[in-house]
Amino acid sequence: NLSPRLKIVASLVPQGSRIADIGSDHAYLAINLIKNKIANHAIAGEVAPGPLSNSKEEIEKNGVVDQIEARLGDGLAVIQDTDTVDVICIAGMGGQLIRKILNDGKTKLNGVKKLILQPNVGELELREWLISNNFKITHEDIVAEDHHLYEIIMAEPGQMTLSEKEQMFGPILMKSHNEVYTRKWQRELNRLRKIEVNLNAHPSHGQAKLDQVTKQISDIEEMFSHVS
Ligand code: SAM
Repeated sequence: NLSPRLKIVASLVPQGSRIADIGSDHAYLAINLIKNKIANHAIAGEVAPGPLSNSKEEIEKNGVVDQIEARLGDGLAVIQDTDTVDVICIAGMGGQLIRKILNDGKTKLNGVKKLILQPNVGELELREWLISNNFKITHEDIVAEDHHLYEIIMAEPGQMTLSEKEQMFGPILMKSHNEVYTRKWQRELNRLRKIEVNLNAHPSHGQAKLDQVTKQISDIEEMFSHVS
């Protein structure tokens, strides 16, 4: 059984896909997609030998060795042209690492129809990368799991322009404005307000830092004021 965030990632994969799950760890996502006959073929990529052997063990235990290949390598380097991968999933890492993996593996993105990404943090940096590398966001979601609130971003080749606010809050999440989204930004607002109080009490930390936090607070307050 998949965790709530991986369940959402899995639900976005089109039937009949050939997927690569990068940073697959135990390969639960790939195994689920193959067993449910969503994906026809999967590559489970891992940079670390420990997680790779977890993957191999699970793949054998689940009897899907013919459909899933566990490969050791850094990011998209595990993908070959002959794999004809059409969906790449990268989940459970920071947005900056996901961005680096995509950027280092740019040449492997030709022919890929969908990126399904689940950054733990750093969503803004990831959206920035998508825009400047000709991907458009077609779906976003947010889910609560063990006190964490995780965003899921799906993108396809295409053009997109996003305002600064859309990059921060997510162009689709911002509009849907669901309960988990509200909780995320309320939590962030509370965190920033505490930092602001602290910075005001300790001017030695510098005006620049304070200005930055104050700006973030007013961005979130403004976003909330448009929807309530
Ligand atoms: N994707 C799974 C999930 O969402 O539950 C596992 C997430 S786990 C926290 C992150 C995994 O990414 C680790 O197993 C780590 O070894 C792997 N990883 C980190 N950097 C990587 C890279 N550059 N290429 C491939 N795998 C990487």
